[in-house]
This record gives sequence, C-alpha cells and structure tokens, in this order.
Amino acid sequence: MKKNEALRALPKIDEVLKQHLISDFIGEKGKTVVTEAARRVVESRRKAILLMDQDELDALDPESLTPEAVADQVAEAVRAMDKNHLYPVINCTGTILHTNLGRAPLCRDAVENVARVAEGYSNLEYDVKEGRRGSRHSIIQDLLCEITGTEDVMMVNNNASATMLVLSSMAAGGEAVVSRGELVEIGGAFRIPDIMEQSGAVLHEVGTTNKTKPSNYENAINEETKVLMKVHTSNYKIMGFTEEASLEDLVKIGREHDLPVIFDMGNGLMLDLSQYGLDEPNVPAAMATGIDVILFSGDKLLGGPQAGIIAGKRKYIEKMKKHPLARALRVDKMTFAAMEETLKKYRDRETALRDIPILHMISQSPEEMKGRAAMLAHMISEISPELEVEVTDVEDQIGGGSAPMVFLPGSAVAVRSRSMTTDAMERALRKNSVPVIARIKDDRLLLCVRTMENGEVEKVACAFENIR
Ligand SMILES: *Cc1c(COP(=O)(O)O)cnc(C)c1O
Repeated sequence: MKKNEALRALPKIDEVLKQHLISDFIGEKGKTVVTEAARRVVESRRKAILLMDQDELDALDPESLTPEAVADQVAEAVRAMDKNHLYPVINCTGTILHTNLGRAPLCRDAVENVARVAEGYSNLEYDVKEGRRGSRHSIIQDLLCEITGTEDVMMVNNNASATMLVLSSMAAGGEAVVSRGELVEIGGAFRIPDIMEQSGAVLHEVGTTNKTKPSNYENAINEETKVLMKVHTSNYKIMGFTEEASLEDLVKIGREHDLPVIFDMGNGLMLDLSQYGLDEPNVPAAMATGIDVILFSGDKLLGGPQAGIIAGKRKYIEKMKKHPLARALRVDKMTFAAMEETLKKYRDRETALRDIPILHMISQSPEEMKGRAAMLAHMISEISPELEVEVTDVEDQIGGGSAPMVFLPGSAVAVRSRSMTTDAMERALRKNSVPVIARIKDDRLLLCVRTMENGEVEKVACAFENIR
C-alpha cells in the first residue's frame, strides 16, 4: 500500500461515530467523551502511518483501517479513559492495617449503610422528632458512651486532626506536660512537638527518653500548666532500663492539681486482644482510669473509616465542638454512616470479632489459615507444572504504625517459577485486572492468607492463570 492510499483509507471521525458499537457508547458516556476518543485514535493512526517506511506500509492490514476496526479501538480508548484511579487490590502482604493499601476494610453493614445514606438525603444535622436543626455529633454519642463509658464524644477527620483540636482547645496559651519518651513522630510531617507548636501550646518535656517518673510530671507543674498529656508510643518501643508513669498515676496527679489529663492513644482498640498476642491499651480500659480526654483513630485497630474520635468529660468536649477548628475538621455523612455500623458491632465481643474484617484477621485460628493456604497452594499448582508451590509459616503484622513488635503466626503460599523470575512474577500479578500485592522473601513470592478474604483466594489463583 502507498502512504497516500493508507492515509485516505483512514475513516473520518463522523464515520467512526456512526458505527453501531459507538452509538451505544455515546448514550452511556456522552458525546464529548467519545468524540474526543475517536479524534485521538484517528489522529494517532494518521501519525503512525506518516512515520511508516514502505515495508511497514506493505505489512499494514487494510482491514485495520475500516470504520468498524477503528471503532473497536475507540471503544478500547473510552474504556481506558474510564478506568478509575482508585480501585480495589488484593492484599497478600499479611500486614493488616497496610497504610498504602487503605488501612481497614469496612464491615459489610458499614458499606451498605454508607450506600444507603449517601444515595439520598439524611438527617445528618436535623432532629426529625423535633422538626428542627440537630447536631451531627449526636449520631455516635449514645453508642460510644455505651461501649466505652465516656460522657461525651466528637468525631473529626483523623487522629492527627483530633490531636490538633484537643491541644488547641485545651492547652493553647499555656504549657502541656509530656514525657520525653513519648514525643512521637507518626509519619509525614506529624510530630507531637510540631503539632504542639501549631496549636499554640508550649511543650514542657519531662523525664528522659527511657525513664519518666510520676514525680517528673508533678515537679513540672506551674501557673502556665494547662494539661498533662500521655502519648501512646504506638509505632516504637523503648526497651531495657525503662520507666513510665501510668495513666492512673497521671489521673491522680491531675486530680490533685486540678489539671485535665489527655491520652493520645493513637489506635482505637476497643477490646482486650491479649489472647492473640496484642498487648495494647484499649479505649474502655483507658476510659475507666478516670481520664479526662482520650483521642484515637477510627480505622487503626477499631476497624472503621478514617476518622479521629475524641471522647471524655463533657465540659472539655463541649468546648471543642464550639472551637473554630471543629468546622474545618468535621467529617462527612459517609464517615458517620460507616462508623455507626462499625461501633454497633462492639455491643457484643463475638460479633465484633466475627464481623469487623480487621478483628477477624487478627483472631482467625492457625488451622483456618493453614486450610486456606493449602487450598490456594493446590489451586496454583494445578495451573502450571512450571510453578513450585509450598505452604509456609510466616509472621504477619498489624501495620499502620501499630504494635510494631507484634508478630502474628500465620500461613502463606510460597511460589517460585521455573520459567520466570520472582520479580517478574510479582510485577505480573500487580498487572492483574484486580492487582494482587505480594511480597518477595528469599527469592520466593509470598502470598499471606491472613489478609485475603475467602472469595479472594480463587481470584489470586486465577491471576496466575493469566501470567502463564
Ligand atoms: C496513628 C497515630 C496518630 C495519627 O492518627 P491518624 O488517624 O493516622 O491521623 C496520632 N497519634 C498516635 C499516637 C498515633 O499512633
């Protein structure tokens, strides 16, 4: 074929748009989108032809230049344009609160409630009974009081916002006493000393990195002191020759000096999970010490949506609700919808462990995981004799900067291929229609089953089918 002939054979955009396949697309995606895709496809075909030498032109299939063939390409281009930038992946890393993978998956009832509430209008700030304006803060109030024994509660965007709001409303213009061993950096630019400065409070450090005694707090108290603060060192552990003041110690000192005590707990663990190796403070237990204000995350170990929850004495929370920052940090109806359903699960320990995905992942039995790993190993080995497959023990992690020293004994499927490098296999799995995220250890691909849902096991096996 000559270059001129090929260029002339390319269909006009109008011709492409008249194709059957395309008119359906126009109805669904809109004329602008499809016309633009058609223009781009035709233009790129034209440029490609202009660059072709005679050999390439001779190899050009005239069938690929028909309006039907170009319409097919346009449809493909529209589909590619339509792909979301945020989409599900399968977490085979065994890290439960994987921050890069969106932390906590929501429980089914929370997802359904979000859809229900988001689809139409709701009583977000409307008191239906009285027929007047209501408050969004009252939505999770009763539930949280029931579960944790708190007086009052407020929800903000995340625990970082909660820290900001609590310090701004309770410590600005004065001093907050914090142990040197608890000046946490969470990640990003979130460091307790910086947040303190932003909030207008002055950080009064006490003790040393490894030892802080109750008397250190007591001796630091002066006329400028506004609060005593304890921060849970959720993402690191100081070991060896150590001492820290307990919440009870701080509450006692606070009472004696008429100063409020704040606890930044970081994660929002609601249950005692020590039987699963998780030796972390939990919200109801911390509340029971008589602490004035406690703040924690809505997703880290609580298993709900991203949020920060502030719970405690009414006189402090009321003030926060009226603080100018409250409006800037307030959360959306979808977060409330997800949080309420998640919190309802905590009315019964067994229900929470069964229905909240991250709690189920933490508490599932080794036998259950071994069984699932065996099933996955079997499915993968059936796919190709090129794959060496073995069930192996692994140590899974909580993640999300929580409980860094906790290793949960779990099961994984280790895969090596005789025809492909492990790196190439890992990359190929990430390109699956639902990307499979796995890790590599000792040149084997590790697929940890703790963080997979039952339905995902088969999808992971199918992903191997596609990379053969
Ligand atoms: C994780 C954490 C935060 C930040 O919580 P986000 O919900 O991620 O904003 C603050 N303080 C502590 C102690 C934490 O562990």
